[in-house]
Amino acid sequence: MGSLEGKVAIVTGASRGIGAAIVRKFAAEGATVVACARSIESCEGAAMCQKVDVSDSAQVDACVKATIERFGRVDVLVNNAGITRDGLLMRMSDADWDQVLDINLKGTFLFSRAVARPMMKNKRADGTSAGGSIVNITSVVGITGNAGQANYTASKGGVIALTKTVAKELGSRNVRCNAVAPGFIESKMTEGLPEDLKKAYMEKIPLRRFGQVDDIARAVAWLASDESAYVTGQVLSVNGGMV
Ligand code: NAP
Repeated sequence: MGSLEGKVAIVTGASRGIGAAIVRKFAAEGATVVACARSIESCEGAAMCQKVDVSDSAQVDACVKATIERFGRVDVLVNNAGITRDGLLMRMSDADWDQVLDINLKGTFLFSRAVARPMMKNKRADGTSAGGSIVNITSVVGITGNAGQANYTASKGGVIALTKTVAKELGSRNVRCNAVAPGFIESKMTEGLPEDLKKAYMEKIPLRRFGQVDDIARAVAWLASDESAYVTGQVLSVNGGMV
């Protein structure tokens, strides 16, 4: 039996990269998965795809409602949708700041708020609380900071603080909230980076390889499952030893 058997999960940013890998892993572990992104037609392993902009509260609420109408509950939320708009602080536009904060941080808040009540009400067959698990994807640079990423690092540092607060607010109702902080993972987000920058990153990674999307999906699946039942408010770094 898979570690997520019987669970209904929503995964944001599921059209490619880390999110798509999380959907495949969750499906392999037995979960019923709702895959979300702004543009998504199909997604391997998903029971339902939803076009959702995570920064729009009406769309977020509608997605959670549609999930509960179709599958009866939501046990797991993975806030994975994220973007970068890199640039030095002095040249960063208001629009680049706002867009990154709206998607990476506000989107995580909106989806967490939307699932909180349904998760608190979840019951097991014997009537005891089943609660839920929220897993937020932050980043190594949300811990360390990074030149050229004021907007992105602020959003990811905010996600870490939000994770700890949600864990404190919802813990008594058996809803857990943790974050995964990936290091350098090979995906569309990183493929365009200059080779000299990639080389500099590689030199800082003790395991001497870039991470793969499946490295992140396995960590997320553990935090989503009951195998991590006594873990909440934590940040799990998956970065090859980089930090
Ligand atoms: P990616 O390949 O660029 O995928 C990003 C996903 O987010 C896509 O599915 C995209 O789909 C979705 N998305 C973007 N804006 C959205 C919005 N407003 N509403 C809904 N979905 C949205 O990136 P990735 O590398 O897989 O990154 C996934 C997460 O890991 C992000 O939070 C990123 O910050 C984090 N991360 C990545 C790395 C890395 O090295 N790759 C390292 C640390 C952390 P649409 O464009 O169709 O909406």
